[in-house]
Amino acid sequence: MPPELLFDQSFGDLFVMRLAGNIISAGVAGSIQYSYQHLGVSLLVVLGHEGCGAVKAALAARFQRATHPERIQKLVELIDPGLEQIDPNLSAAEQLEAGVEANVRWSMHQVVRTPEVQQALRDARNILIVGAVYELSTGKVRWLDSERKG
Ligand SMILES: [Zn+2]
Repeated sequence: MPPELLFDQSFGDLFVMRLAGNIISAGVAGSIQYSYQHLGVSLLVVLGHEGCGAVKAALAARFQRATHPERIQKLVELIDPGLEQIDPNLSAAEQLEAGVEANVRWSMHQVVRTPEVQQALRDARNILIVGAVYELSTGKVRWLDSERKG
């Protein structure tokens, strides 16, 4: 479902970046910075989703030594650091559930620790970074705790 419909917004109201595995690459970080500094965006939502194929690929690479085509491998490498705490003894389904949430937190963490966000938080400027998981099974968005520090 498009984020505009999910959050009851009109087209053009949200600055949406749709990326496999909600990754923070250099270009994504630049777009986030742009939206904050030039468009006045003050709320950043990192929205993962149940059953994410990119997280699944990263888990397979980590736990089953699966190999992926080069560019997917690059995606997997951006996700992997966020999966460090995932218990290898969980079932594949449990790993994916935990991995999706861990990957949202990892993306949030990467944004929060950027110098401009740290400065904005120090200045108590209007900025909030929150994480959520879109549950395909219920159609609902489950909010995670917000992270205010790096
Ligand atoms: Zn996905």
